Amino acid sequence: MLDVGRHPNIKLLAYSELEKLTGEAGNFTATVRKKARYVEEDKCTGCGACREVCPTPVIDLYNEGHAERRAIYSWFAQGIPSTHTIDPDHCRVLTGKKCGICQKKCQAGAINFEQKDTILELPVGAVILATGYDVFDPSRIPEYRYKEIDNVVTAMEFERFLSASGPTEGHVYRPSDRKVKAEIAELENKVRKSLKGLEKFEKTMA
Ligand code: SF4
Ligand code: SF4
Repeated sequence: MLDVGRHPNIKLLAYSELEKLTGEAGNFTATVRKKARYVEEDKCTGCGACREVCPTPVIDLYNEGHAERRAIYSWFAQGIPSTHTIDPDHCRVLTGKKCGICQKKCQAGAINFEQKDTILELPVGAVILATGYDVFDPSRIPEYRYKEIDNVVTAMEFERFLSASGPTEGHVYRPSDRKVKAEIAELENKVRKSLKGLEKFEKTMA
């Protein structure tokens, strides 16, 4: 992604959505909405000083709801471009209240509450359709009791727990009470015992 961000022949339009595609192969026109970040991409250095002083907590969906971010944020640490974004649904200024702390803190002068969405008309020769995906909702299988038991997590949530940049900085804790290490050791013991039992059984069968 870093290479893509730096490549002289690639123009990366992050935080943007394709609104319309007209024309035909070799001669398309793509209408793209570049959403307002309320942060000037070319000025923002990604230093994070604004994020540290923002008083507004927001549930962090990148971490599957197991952490909090601020109303000014970067979606994840290695994101390209590394610019920050203000969440218009939660920012105090953008929801009609008083604040502006991030603007005072930003030495680069990158915060711009007046920024608007931009509509781009791009002449395009070919289109690659990459749909992405939605994560399966485990509550559709009642046997998992996903919504009832805090310690039932999806593979994606577990990945965030294992990640050094995740909500537990790579330490595996039990979500309900943030304890678990002892239980993991106990579980490993049980697995070892089961494996020994299995080996014994296989020998007797040989
Ligand atoms: S908006 Fe300003 S303070 Fe925030 S990350 Fe960008 S440069 Fe740093
Ligand atoms: S103006 Fe919005 S983004 Fe900036 S510090 Fe206040 S709440 Fe956070």
